[in-house]
Amino acid sequence: MSQGEIVLLPRVRKCPRREGFNVFRVNGVTYENAFKSLADWTIKKIFNCRKCKIELGLFEHSDIEKKEKLVWIDLFKCEDYYYDQLKELQIDETKNTKQSKKYHKVQSEITNIRNKIALDQIKVKIKAKIKKKGMLI
Ligand SMILES: [Zn+2]
Repeated sequence: MSQGEIVLLPRVRKCPRREGFNVFRVNGVTYENAFKSLADWTIKKIFNCRKCKIELGLFEHSDIEKKEKLVWIDLFKCEDYYYDQLKELQIDETKNTKQSKKYHKVQSEITNIRNKIALDQIKVKIKAKIKKKGMLI
């Protein structure tokens, strides 16, 4: 089989919301990867779930062969937005001893951000549900 034929083989992947399967082809289109936390990954395909219509991104690891993930883009954006901030805080966390005031300040900032991410993700999930209902009416 030639390289071209392999590329055209359809792939079957389950939606991260567990709402049905998607069959698609990766056709060599390059997408801009603006996700800070997925800098080592390449976007192979962006498409909407056939069943629930959410936007999905198929990522393949740039170095590790066959390592891929299917990401619910809007949901992932919520955590990616805080990537730099969280990374810095986690570095601060290791620099300070557990007894210090700074350590506790850093801890509460991390908790704050995690809560914000969780809240943003709930909003995305609610939005997706409303959107789906809207389509059924
Ligand atoms: Zn879906």
